[in-house]
Amino acid sequence: MKEMMSDAFLMEQRQLERIGDLMNLDKNIIERLKFPKRTLIVSLPIKMDNGETKCFTGYRVQHDTARGPAKGGIRYNSEVDLGEVSALAMLMTWKCSLMNLPFGGAKGGICCNPNELSLGELERLTRRYTSEILQMIGPEKDIPAPDVGSNEKTMGWIMDTYSNYHGYCIPGVVTGKPVEIGGSLGRRQATGAGVAYTTRNCINNILNNSKEHYDIVIQGFGNVGSNAAKYLHDMGHKIIAVSDVFGGIYNKNGINIDELLKHIEKTKKVEGFKDSTPITNEELLILECDFLIPCALGNVITKNNADKIKAKIVVEGANGPVSSEADEILLSKNIKIIPGILANAGGVIVSYFEWVQDIQRLFWEEEEIMKNLERLMAKSFNEVHKLTIEKKTDYRTAALMIAIERVAKAKELRGLYP
Ligand code: NAD
Repeated sequence: MKEMMSDAFLMEQRQLERIGDLMNLDKNIIERLKFPKRTLIVSLPIKMDNGETKCFTGYRVQHDTARGPAKGGIRYNSEVDLGEVSALAMLMTWKCSLMNLPFGGAKGGICCNPNELSLGELERLTRRYTSEILQMIGPEKDIPAPDVGSNEKTMGWIMDTYSNYHGYCIPGVVTGKPVEIGGSLGRRQATGAGVAYTTRNCINNILNNSKEHYDIVIQGFGNVGSNAAKYLHDMGHKIIAVSDVFGGIYNKNGINIDELLKHIEKTKKVEGFKDSTPITNEELLILECDFLIPCALGNVITKNNADKIKAKIVVEGANGPVSSEADEILLSKNIKIIPGILANAGGVIVSYFEWVQDIQRLFWEEEEIMKNLERLMAKSFNEVHKLTIEKKTDYRTAALMIAIERVAKAKELRGLYP
């Protein structure tokens, strides 16, 4: 298993061991959770538009399935490797467990730059990837979803390829697909909405709602970042800075998010928005604010910049944006960190609703979906918040304690085969 030993994966393994020791969990069960249950690496030869054939590498990793079928997104990014996908798969196990969903954890990815591929190339790449991992996925086995660089359209192609192979329509094989082919209302905005609900839970439970509005900085303005910004803006808070891969913008009086969304529709980037000054992604992270919400990639707050962070609370919209060294530095500065397995779980909650609706062929109203999302996010937040007080610990430790204990219990009850 040495191929997966990246920094990101080793960090997740250390977290698991730390929580196992802290809670005195059965060492044999922790040992079983240290590596993914199943990994697949596939070669993806694609006919490019210029007639050449190019080979990409794809991955699918199932970390654990003790509590149900594996669940996790598919990332299209040039940094994707087995270590990153394995680390993210483990995080999915903890996230689904913390939310008490009947799923285990998985993740997938293709090492590519989706911005450099035409729509036709992306479709051929997605369909070939689906056919190569076909034996591993399915509504009862492993259910992919979008992640960085993939989207609803990608999920539509996966569902179509899978359904064609089996000879009938199987919408439950993926979540995050278009509503017209079995997607769920509310899924598109679910993760960002969940991040906003979590921020509001922090305001009420940690900051005692002592100000009329709070200053918020958001890194990454894709699915998660833009929806979190929209919900928080609508709640009356001031979004003072946002960014994307090209750079950021700042306005200490607050950015009008509705206007910014119109600007992005035209220009595809936040840069150049009126009433704002440009800033770099590095400068954005160290702005003075109440909430810093990283919603782009992992490992953006590290030992190199953690000391300069001035936010009161960091809410992890992205997966793994704070390294473990940075975690310690932030905690020593009394900055609270709400871990991604709690803060960005809105997506997997509504994915769960989508899967249930697909299987039952019975679809719910958006109002019902968003109400249930808010309820489940609040329930998990309260459980974690209570444990931080009881155990005098931080939010990441408390969240992992709840999540890992549930998975360990499921493994203990099922026993070890054979
Ligand atoms: P996305 O592709 O829609 O958006 C990513 C955003 O980050 C874009 O604005 C992009 O320009 C920006 N970005 C990329 N590289 C950057 C860089 N180096 N510096 C600054 N900005 C950069 O992706 P998304 O779906 O919004 O996912 C964002 C994060 O949230 C990821 O870590 C993902 O794993 C996590 N997440 C997503 C979901 C979901 O439902 N989409 C659910 C849970 C967690």
